[in-house]
Amino acid sequence: MDKKLQEVSALASPIMYVKGVGEYRARLLAKLGVHTVGDMMEFFPRAYISRIVNPSLEDMQVGEMVSLTATISWVDERAVSSGKKILHMGVNDGLAGLVCAWFKYPQSYLKLFRPGLTIWLSGILSSFNGELQMTHPGFEILEDGGVEDDFWKSRTVLPVYNLTEGLSQTTMRKIAVNTFATYAKDIEESLPDFVLEAYGFAERRVALQIMHFGQKTEQIESTRRRFAYEEFLYSQILWARHKLKHNETVVGIEFENRKDLTTKLKQSLKFELTGAQKRVIREIFTDMCSAKQMSRLVQGDVGSGKTIVSLFAMLLAVENGYQAALMAPTEILAEQHYQNISALVSSLSIRVTLLKGGNYKGKAAIKKEIAEGETQIVIGTHALIQKDIEFLRLGIVVVDEQHRFGVEQRARLARAQGTPELLYLSATPIPRSLAMTVYGDLEVSRIDEMPAGRMPVLTCIRSDRKMESVLLDVRKELSKGRQAYFVCPLVEESDKLALLDAQRLFEYLQNKAYPDVKIELIHGRMSSVDKDLIMHRFKQGEIQVLVSTTVIEVGVDVANASVMVIEHAERFGLAQMHQLRGRVGRGEYQSYCYLIWHQPLSKIARARLDTMNRTADGFIIAEKDLELRGPGELFGLEQSGLPSFKHASLISDQPILQVAREDAFSIVAEDAELVSPKHEKLRDVYISKYLQKEELIQY
Ligand code: ADP
Ligand code: MG
Repeated sequence: MDKKLQEVSALASPIMYVKGVGEYRARLLAKLGVHTVGDMMEFFPRAYISRIVNPSLEDMQVGEMVSLTATISWVDERAVSSGKKILHMGVNDGLAGLVCAWFKYPQSYLKLFRPGLTIWLSGILSSFNGELQMTHPGFEILEDGGVEDDFWKSRTVLPVYNLTEGLSQTTMRKIAVNTFATYAKDIEESLPDFVLEAYGFAERRVALQIMHFGQKTEQIESTRRRFAYEEFLYSQILWARHKLKHNETVVGIEFENRKDLTTKLKQSLKFELTGAQKRVIREIFTDMCSAKQMSRLVQGDVGSGKTIVSLFAMLLAVENGYQAALMAPTEILAEQHYQNISALVSSLSIRVTLLKGGNYKGKAAIKKEIAEGETQIVIGTHALIQKDIEFLRLGIVVVDEQHRFGVEQRARLARAQGTPELLYLSATPIPRSLAMTVYGDLEVSRIDEMPAGRMPVLTCIRSDRKMESVLLDVRKELSKGRQAYFVCPLVEESDKLALLDAQRLFEYLQNKAYPDVKIELIHGRMSSVDKDLIMHRFKQGEIQVLVSTTVIEVGVDVANASVMVIEHAERFGLAQMHQLRGRVGRGEYQSYCYLIWHQPLSKIARARLDTMNRTADGFIIAEKDLELRGPGELFGLEQSGLPSFKHASLISDQPILQVAREDAFSIVAEDAELVSPKHEKLRDVYISKYLQKEELIQY
């Protein structure tokens, strides 16, 4: 497929030239991401006001997000003791009243809010001194010119746009009307007829206008689905084409399942593999025994047994006469893997080597062993195959904790030293929808079952005012010989405040709470040598309590640690808390996780703590995490260069994604270059908007 010179569409015209916009407003619109006529058309309203269905305040619940139309009855600005000012506004919908409050506001509000005007309000309903209240509501004056335009006067549903300082709803609505008045005729369809027919979607010219001027909310929602489908379809065509090309051009190693070392390993294990582990091993073996290069992601909670699974894969390579590399994110994890794996293969007479970073005595000899094929399994950090290490015959690369790996790094890896099979391990389960869009190129395996006999970690959620009793509980565990972690949040890498918190907690524990106990502090600004040393001593049992900022997040395994205390749990993300909780409960002891929260506890933070209390399943937690965080910050999707979604939601539109993915893969299987006449529209849109993204993932 070639990037042909694009014909310039009228929709690419600068928004400045639309009637009523001009240079000044164009600058404001640019802040909203609206640069062209086409951008404006796709700048969908964030909400819609119905002027007919107007629910009454009396029927609304405190704590809910509501919107309503009411009349302003009074406005009052007064100074409070701190010298600041507060603005209050009373409104009434004929049956009940409500007080709106602003603690920060531009002076223009005083002119804007006049008794008698009709106003639309949107916000969380609260109750204060027995009165209904809303602080900092979203609002819109409905009279006072709000709907003076003839066009809007007759409408029962009004669009509400995101705004920026200097742009009003009235102006935005005018711009929307003018944009379509002049340019609607230039809108071209972006989906093929067979798709429109199959799903009963409105054609693009109509659909765009429904999004702005629709008069029925159900119709607006069903039209939005068309745009969600469209975004998903094209992003999945991208992955489908990538996969097809990858499979055609990259010839991997075709291993043979000799049932030699792998069978010996199975026989030597002291436990039975879980059903999920067996399934995932089968999936990996099928990949490895085919001619194409494997790129498979194995997701599973901490302790679900990913390492063993990857060891089977490495042994399959070794019994075929190849070498295996295992890359861990840190030195200490590499060392841990080295110890575990050495023990597991001790009866198999193969050589396992740990390759550390930096220069040290004996390193040259190790490199020589690797280059000459004397050693079969090499374990190290991510530097392992990116630096000057030469393998004789590299057959597989296992990457632990792949979520630190972007598409580009994966690409580099795929081209490394021959075409080794690639296996990524992740203890951060992500929802299927996200996996499909961020790792659309990877096959995904899930280990969604824990080894039998694990005792679940008991989770206790406590206010910081109960800290004393938590410290007593922890003391009981310490006196049984167990060890404990205390974790403080690190807001940013360089955040002095967080460090201070950890430092203070450390001093308090050492001087007041547990003066007789060996405690150490570990934080992100220590050198990795110092960190590793402390972790090592903790693992050896020389330290009983480890106070840390979140640096212990990944993988370190201390079976004797039975308590995890998370300070300021309200500041942690779900995935992070889940990871931290996974640090305990790894041995034979009943383990505990205390989530200590401080005021103010936001609604979202409360929901996160609730989720932690309800489930230990990383996949469920990941779904909830995505739902709570919303589409705004999807695991770096925005920064990745991959298509992100303006209209589609990875939470509520999952069924649409599934359908779009299937459609995309079957379209590409039939006609990868989209040259068939029925795919003409797909081809045009794909070339102009998506083709250049293929370069990002060309491997
Ligand atoms: P992960 O890498 O997924 O966090 P590991 O592979 O390190 O988990 O396994 C955690 C621990 O559980 C290890 O000590 C491992 O030997 C053990 N283990 C793995 N699979 C099983 C199983 N099926 N039954 C019992 N124990 C297992
Ligand atoms: Mg692991």
